[in-house]
Amino acid sequence: MEVLFWNKELETLPRPKLEKMQFQRLQKTVDQALKTHFYQRRLGKAGITSGKDICCLKDLQKVPFTNKDDLRKNFPFGMLAVDFEQVVRLHSSSGTTGIPTVIYLTQEDLNRWTDLVARSVVATGCTKKDVFQNMMTYGLFTGGLGLHYGAERVGMTVIPIGGGNTQRQVHVMKDFKTTTVHITPSYLLHIHSKLSEYNMDIDELHLKRAFLGAEPYSENTRLKLEELYGIDAFNSYGLSEMNGPGVAFECIYKQDMHVWEDAYIVEIIDPVTGEVLEDGAKGEVVFTILTRDAMPLLRYRTRDLAFLHPEVCSCGRTHRRLSRILGRTDDMLIINGVNVFPSQIEEVIMSIPEVGTNYQIQIDKAGALDRLTVKVEIYAKMFTGEASALDALKVRIMEKLRASITINPRIELHEPGVLPAFEGKAKRVVDTREAL
Ligand code: ADP
Ligand code: ZN
Repeated sequence: MEVLFWNKELETLPRPKLEKMQFQRLQKTVDQALKTHFYQRRLGKAGITSGKDICCLKDLQKVPFTNKDDLRKNFPFGMLAVDFEQVVRLHSSSGTTGIPTVIYLTQEDLNRWTDLVARSVVATGCTKKDVFQNMMTYGLFTGGLGLHYGAERVGMTVIPIGGGNTQRQVHVMKDFKTTTVHITPSYLLHIHSKLSEYNMDIDELHLKRAFLGAEPYSENTRLKLEELYGIDAFNSYGLSEMNGPGVAFECIYKQDMHVWEDAYIVEIIDPVTGEVLEDGAKGEVVFTILTRDAMPLLRYRTRDLAFLHPEVCSCGRTHRRLSRILGRTDDMLIINGVNVFPSQIEEVIMSIPEVGTNYQIQIDKAGALDRLTVKVEIYAKMFTGEASALDALKVRIMEKLRASITINPRIELHEPGVLPAFEGKAKRVVDTREAL
């Protein structure tokens, strides 16, 4: 497979040059941030009153963190660094964990973001010959318009269909010979479970690749989707606070995601102490955006957990790679004192061939104790066989899970179509403990 570049010079910039560029942009970004009351106060307390107070890249560590709460407290305009009339677009997060936050972009900001997205899709091998069906929700959520304009800039044929209406999605894919989709992994799983209902065969589609993002998922889910559809699935990471998609994207080698370091400084920190960790160590991902005038954000704590690869990638890009998101600090479940991430459970169940395309995690109280129930849909043919085979499968799933998470879950097996399905970000965990 040929390695394609959108901007080869920037994407393969030798590290010293890349870091020099980051440093210069960081100084400018600090000056821009100081135009807001929020950062005047926040940086002032740390003794930073000008970009010149940052003398090297390492000095970034003098800058205090910014978090989601800061954005919420300064809603709506407290972090805006330009006149409002300079703003040509605003977006907001999907509010998975509370009140949504808003970000602003000038025309130049938009232009730079679009370029990062164009770079990302070209890294996966896309060209103007590709037909791109964007199944992410359009609107305030960045997954719609963000990918849309980037793909358009590359010259791909963009079908801005948005999320939902599964039958129509499948027909559009067939009619226009869609080669590339952008979608949440949970929705792509769900679509597969519907194909037979629509009398559609995978061979009637021309799908080559999927960009999967917006929610945590495991390597096993990627492998499963690649096999079900006969495609390459690329991990795509972004968050609205950092513009949206196009922060980090996999190249054709699919060995985790290049962070576009000319636009973002990425750090991995210990989520408890805030200490910056070495490459390879797992911790919370922190970003500084270097290319947004309307709303600079310095050392933004994502609450996403991952690590950076120290090694270079075979594609020749010098931008470091971020691992799959291992979970969010705020989606960690504590079950009878044991820490469990939903992604650990997903990883196990998606490695079991009999398991279909949907599952749910339920936690409730049984007396004083927490009780974990994992409900999985399994392929319909399993229900026509021996009942003892179902029991054996249940035990197998239970044992594999116990080996991974050290807790004994109850397992429920369901026929396809029984558990709630999702057309956007999935909500897999039902935790009723608090309500009791
Ligand atoms: P919200 O925080 O309300 O979900 P966003 O819509 O901005 O807001 O979503 C960004 C978040 O989505 C990220 O911080 C991350 O937790 C999750 N996310 C995005 N892409 C991925 C991905 N490829 N893998 C795992 N999680 C992802
Ligand atoms: Zn690469």
